[in-house]
Amino acid sequence: MALHAMFVHAHPDDESSKGAATMAKLADLGYRVSVVTLTDGSAGEILNPKMDRPGVAERMPEVRRQELARALDVIGVTDHFWLGYRDSGFVEGFDGDGSVLAEDAFYNLDRERVVRDLVEIVRSTRPQVLVTYPEDGGYPHPDHLRCHDVSREAYHAAGDPARYPDAGEPFAPSKLYYMSVFSRRRVEKLHAACEERGIESPLQRFLERMDPDEPDPNTTHVEVGDWIARRSQALLAHATQVDPDGMWFRIPDEVVREVYPYEDFQLAHSRVETSMPESSLFDGIETAAGP
Ligand SMILES: [Zn+2]
Repeated sequence: MALHAMFVHAHPDDESSKGAATMAKLADLGYRVSVVTLTDGSAGEILNPKMDRPGVAERMPEVRRQELARALDVIGVTDHFWLGYRDSGFVEGFDGDGSVLAEDAFYNLDRERVVRDLVEIVRSTRPQVLVTYPEDGGYPHPDHLRCHDVSREAYHAAGDPARYPDAGEPFAPSKLYYMSVFSRRRVEKLHAACEERGIESPLQRFLERMDPDEPDPNTTHVEVGDWIARRSQALLAHATQVDPDGMWFRIPDEVVREVYPYEDFQLAHSRVETSMPESSLFDGIETAAGP
């Protein structure tokens, strides 16, 4: 049976903006690659002016479902789990107080219920690698913060027979990773490449927010040069959320490939021996049989 990596995401489109090139690479190499999408993305607005036309906003949940299906197909995801909780919506300066959100928003749901749902998926599909967001969510959206929290909890609970005994046979994944979209070294390299080439850098504000003394927590750098174009195609499949003329497409794929053809991850917990830095999420897990 193929080795399996599971990526847990908050909204439809997050799977394409975070770790998509790594997923495409793993899928092409023969690994099982699954995505869990926690929410329905119903709070998403139309962020691409070209899609702001009659009939789209009215059908948002359905449109986002179709966009996601296309993106998953482009990436080559083998299994998708859609939990469909209600998108909490983005709140500027969210500080963890759910009172500003709808009562049935994902962030306000009973945490145990969500962890149980994830544990059941992990136990029934047995991924060796579980990937989610870092502690700060990677982005201060209530659903991203909660995504981190419930995924980490599910990683630890899935192998524990005392937890959720009715949610399947216990299974402990071997590794837990946090995905990092804006690692300091990635941001610095891409920003410098923009300056050299006269491209207006979309990364200036990220660079300004970074503390130069903070150590880089990332342990694992996956080389994804051949899969960067797939990541962009997957992102463009989310046509209502992504403007092809927007700032994220200012840096051409060829430039990204030349200056930083990696995706970065932080190994947060491991039950296998591995040595740092890693070049694959399966370092220490690989057997002679390969994927
Ligand atoms: Zn999101």
